[in-house]
Amino acid sequence: MAVTETQLAELQARLKDFMAKHIYPNEQRYYTEGEKLGPWRVIPVVEELKKIAKAEGLWNLFLPDDPRGAGLNNQQYATLCEIMGRSVMAPEVFNCAAPDTGNMEVLVRYGTPEQQKQWLEPLLAGEIRSAFCMTEADVASSDATNVQLEIRRDGDEYVLNGRKWYTTGGTDPRCKILIVMGRSNFEPGASPHAIQSQILVPKNTPGVKVIRPLPVFGFYGVPDRASEVWFDNVRVPVSNMLLGEGRGFEIAQGRLGPGRIHHCMRLIGMSERILERMCRRADARVAFGKPVSEQTVTLERIAEARIMIEQCRLLTMKAAYMMDTVGNKEAKQEIAMIKVAAPNMACKIVDWAIQVFGGGGTNNDHFLTVCYSLARALRLADGPDEVHRNQIARLELKRHRNTDPDFTGGRGLGFTRQEAQEFADAGLWPRPADWTE
Ligand SMILES: Cc1cc2nc3c(=O)[nH]c(=O)nc-3n(C[C@H](O)[C@H](O)[C@H](O)COP(=O)(O)OP(=O)(O)OC[C@H]3O[C@@H](n4cnc5c(N)ncnc54)[C@H](O)[C@@H]3O)c2cc1C
Repeated sequence: MAVTETQLAELQARLKDFMAKHIYPNEQRYYTEGEKLGPWRVIPVVEELKKIAKAEGLWNLFLPDDPRGAGLNNQQYATLCEIMGRSVMAPEVFNCAAPDTGNMEVLVRYGTPEQQKQWLEPLLAGEIRSAFCMTEADVASSDATNVQLEIRRDGDEYVLNGRKWYTTGGTDPRCKILIVMGRSNFEPGASPHAIQSQILVPKNTPGVKVIRPLPVFGFYGVPDRASEVWFDNVRVPVSNMLLGEGRGFEIAQGRLGPGRIHHCMRLIGMSERILERMCRRADARVAFGKPVSEQTVTLERIAEARIMIEQCRLLTMKAAYMMDTVGNKEAKQEIAMIKVAAPNMACKIVDWAIQVFGGGGTNNDHFLTVCYSLARALRLADGPDEVHRNQIARLELKRHRNTDPDFTGGRGLGFTRQEAQEFADAGLWPRPADWTE
């Protein structure tokens, strides 16, 4: 069931009210609790606020599938995601945080009724959390064909062996289920896109070892609970396989659909808030006889930040519009573009804000460092910039291979020797008669 413009406006207003009443006033508590309790513990304020958000119906907004979600399309959700993105803590409070959103989408799309009952329902209820294990320390995992963790069938079970890292959520005590990507086909010459599978592994399965939390730019737990996880002879029933053996890439493609641009939508909200804080601080701080906001360099940066945010928002909305109207496949260039543009834009704006805040910008009193580390990590976490750029460029090259340059003006003059001579002779500046080589 589609959401009307009026319903959307009402959701936006309620979300903004919630942010003002519950999120912003509790952020200091969130960071303090996060720092004190560390990556292995639940942050109490998040659990408290989740209950309120759920009771108010501000819950699972990411899921378009009605009645389990809010029934929003990508364009509509983008506007709400921007509001939530204003705070690092907010997405989880509304049960709209990665990696659960992507994992829930995978379960909605590919899970069997039993898998959905066991894992999707508690995830949708916010009772448990989940993790996605693809990246490995020992291979370049931006190329998923490299993934080495072994998934070998043994009777009615699969046996997993391997080492994963940068698994978000591994150290969270609420994390109960892992979606693990690994190699299941070892035949020489097998298609590299049919050798990987994705399988459900309950975190308490013997042999699953969360070895250590990993820092992200020195932060543990907030903004990301990155971890290293080992799988030593982990046995799960064959019924835990998602979609089918060898179909891991297909799932990865599906997973990387809508979830791909949620981060971008949120980064726009984050950048808006950082810009606001930068303006307020620059107005209030006087150096060398005038407010920092009157320094032309500050004006220049504020203006540039506004331009960059507007550009990114338009590109995000275009990507969301295309996903809604022509599908994720057709929108892949726009998706890749915004994946590069949004984190880079956010990094630049937070960097300028740190400069305006002076030394205080480098501690987390103003949340700038945590925002920077999140934005910077996103230049890798959703696939490195370079991989997206390669895709954008390949699609661009392909586009021009399929058009007629005579029609588009894509052909240059391309003189033959004779034409070059004729052109030179007839042109404004023919070689002078007395010219010697
Ligand atoms: C905060 C954070 C959270 C994360 N959460 C998760 C998670 O929950 N689950 C998970 O599985 N992973 C997660 N990751 C891992 C992330 O997905 C990977 O780091 C990313 O895919 C890159 O893989 P890699 O680290 O192995 O880098 P590599 O593949 O080794 O690449 C290293 C660098 O090589 C260059 N490069 C690679 N390919 C190309 C190319 N084609 N052209 C040009 N240059 C190239 C790029 O500069 C790239 O950054 C997370 C990472 C971070 C930082």
